[in-house]
Amino acid sequence: MDLTTPLTYVKGIGPARAGMLEAKGLTTVEDLLGYVPFRYEDRSNMKPIAQLAPGEMATVIAEVRAVKLSGFKRRSLGMFETRFTDASRAILVGKWFHGGYLANVLAEGMKVALFGKVEFDSYAGELTMLHPEFEILSGDEDEGEATLHVGRVVPIYEGVGKITTKTLRTLMHRILQSIEPVDDALPQFLRDRLKMPDRWTALRDIHFPPPESDLRLLNAFRAPAQFRLIFEEFFWLECGVALKRSKARAVPGIAFSLNGRVRERVKAMLPFKPTGAQKRVLKEIAEDMAAPHPMNRLLQGDVGSGKTIVAAEAAVIAIENGYQVAVLAPTEILATQHSFTFKQILGKLGYVTALLTGSFTGREKMQLKKLLSEGLVHVAIGTHALIQKDVEFKNLGLAIIDEQHRFGVLQRLGLVQKGVTPDVLVMTATPIPRTLAMTMYGDLDVSVIDEMPPGRKPIVTKHSTSDHIEQVYSFIKAQIEEGRQAYVVYPVIEESETQAMKAAQKEYEHLSREVFPDIAVGLMHGRLGADEKESVMQRFKDGQVKILVSTTVIEVGVDVPNASVMVVEQAERFGLAQLHQLRGRVGRGAAQSYCLLVTDKMNDTARERIRTLVESTDGFYISEMDLKLRGPGEFFGTKQSGLPSLRIANILRDTEILEIARRDAVDFIARPPSEDDLRRAVAYIRDHWQRRYGLVTVG
Ligand code: ADP
Ligand code: MG
Repeated sequence: MDLTTPLTYVKGIGPARAGMLEAKGLTTVEDLLGYVPFRYEDRSNMKPIAQLAPGEMATVIAEVRAVKLSGFKRRSLGMFETRFTDASRAILVGKWFHGGYLANVLAEGMKVALFGKVEFDSYAGELTMLHPEFEILSGDEDEGEATLHVGRVVPIYEGVGKITTKTLRTLMHRILQSIEPVDDALPQFLRDRLKMPDRWTALRDIHFPPPESDLRLLNAFRAPAQFRLIFEEFFWLECGVALKRSKARAVPGIAFSLNGRVRERVKAMLPFKPTGAQKRVLKEIAEDMAAPHPMNRLLQGDVGSGKTIVAAEAAVIAIENGYQVAVLAPTEILATQHSFTFKQILGKLGYVTALLTGSFTGREKMQLKKLLSEGLVHVAIGTHALIQKDVEFKNLGLAIIDEQHRFGVLQRLGLVQKGVTPDVLVMTATPIPRTLAMTMYGDLDVSVIDEMPPGRKPIVTKHSTSDHIEQVYSFIKAQIEEGRQAYVVYPVIEESETQAMKAAQKEYEHLSREVFPDIAVGLMHGRLGADEKESVMQRFKDGQVKILVSTTVIEVGVDVPNASVMVVEQAERFGLAQLHQLRGRVGRGAAQSYCLLVTDKMNDTARERIRTLVESTDGFYISEMDLKLRGPGEFFGTKQSGLPSLRIANILRDTEILEIARRDAVDFIARPPSEDDLRRAVAYIRDHWQRRYGLVTVG
């Protein structure tokens, strides 16, 4: 047996168990060994019942003498009591409230290991354990395997299908007994420097910690074996990322010229003085563009930090060098908005911009496509319609992708293939810690705008319940009387944009007729045609419409500086990132802005989300809270987002190990101790990690 052996060859794994394991992605011995305990229990304090003292945590091996279920038998509501005894002949009573289900589990004569806190029931004069952990020791294991479960620090696994922690423990032990010691591919000098055990030792110790192990370290995932395996997982991942980057660096691309004329034109375009952060990131972008390799840069900046103007500056560099620019946005509204902005700032310089979205007629599209392919349009702005196969550019030099979290990697590629090797600038308002960003978007360099344009007042965020909605309405009214404008947003229920539209429509009628009969109210939702959307947006921009009732279609990008109130109804149904984005629609001008979060019923996490927003306007903090509340899987979205599927390591819990591993990996790839070391590592990554991490082009 070795690491590649299918699990079906392991004694005790029949077709049924193999099926359950496979459902968790576990098919080989190596997979199963990578399924590590999530917790450990110290069961080394093993005592005969007669020697137990009230108050201590102890492990007892005893036999079931009698079982009793009292109270309501149905719906498992009753109290389940078991009397245990051992060689010391004393009695210990185990009690389980709502334990009716145990009537089918524990039976007279069974040998059981119990673990829990010993108590003395002075009324009955008995030693008891309330809800002890227990494991039935008689079963399908071999001689000798019974001692795996008691009298030591015991690993606890999350059950797999119907396979219990105890069975998993037995299987792990069997495998570790039967396989040859495994090789260690991690460079020796790293192991020495970080004082890490070799792989074989680590694998054995993580499942069956040696006697002197520190339980606290184990349960914090920082015992030497755990550190080693977590480090290893990150290290290979980061090596793969580093290889991918160095390969991307070697591809020939456009070297844009940054001569005096180009600089003049960039300056001439600016409608305001850029912030220090904007200047810095533009410098990073310009250097990339001047280099003879394709730029792959991620521009992070909180909502309202001013990413658009930086993108426009990059566009000028490309156009002045005789190339075309594509700007890709996730929604029609945002594309329309960008088209408007770009036209305004680039039109001054005589550049031609054009918008292309899904709701254009066939003829409109035809015309645009023709202009694009002839090179008569300098900047094409659009939704995914822009990356359809039949759209051709004459010479695409720069692709700008806004709000990256909405676009899959595939779409990114689709656009890039339109130019020979255009430079790519990806922009996102979802700030994530730098190391995570580098890992997620491994082939991207990262620039951060960490400064807001001058004169912004922090948005005041308040929470209100729907029975106080009248106060919210009077507040909106007062703001409008002061010359401001407001948004009122309704939740989109993922499955049904139609339903959301109806809710918004209904509310629109209610607000425009009954609540604000004298105020111009507009309605915006995803089902409106492009023209209607544009005209509603335009009237809101011009200040003809004072209140815009909308679904979340306005979530990203919309920029109307005079709007100072954002009301979010049923705010409990929105995610943190979404609420932060919505709030970012206000606070874009000099006036004090407000965000009012109106809720109906809330559960605990909803309450936590609302509290976070009321407390903070810091996108980084909010993003981290979001990551914590939802977990990395949901936070980053599906596989498509490029999140590697880690097994032992946890990107949240183990960030500091990730940082160490990343530094070492970058160093190792840039300056390997020898050519041979590098070759070995590349081969190892190709064989073991490439498919899992989607590092398709490594090596
Ligand atoms: P985001 O990063 O969310 O895309 P925008 O690019 O839409 O932000 O910018 C938000 C608002 O701030 C816009 O109205 C923009 O014109 C304005 N703005 C951006 N940079 C500056 C600056 N340096 N000085 C003044 N206003 C700015
Ligand atoms: Mg933006």
